Amino acid sequence: MVADAVDPEVGLRPLKGFKLDFSANPGFRKVFFSVKCECTTSALLSVEVSEEKTFSEIEKALPSLVERLEIQAKGFGRMSCEMHQRMSLGGSPNKKTQ
Ligand SMILES: [Zn+2]
Repeated sequence: MVADAVDPEVGLRPLKGFKLDFSANPGFRKVFFSVKCECTTSALLSVEVSEEKTFSEIEKALPSLVERLEIQAKGFGRMSCEMHQRMSLGGSPNKKTQ
């Protein structure tokens, strides 16, 4: 649902079947998106949605959730590819390589 509301121009891709880590923040459901740069570096973006929220409450909160995702995506887009490379070498959040 969040995925449907995201502006396709931002280039966000919802991650289907991503393993969610509920232990980090119980009561919240994390929705993950990935954004990819032409230098092959991809960033993992996420927003948290309370599990107690009803469908209509989430629907109301959707514009601000999408806005947060777009801000994250634009921040990634503003970074130089040198920064991207450094990020990918440092290990992205979905890789346990530290
Ligand atoms: Zn790049």
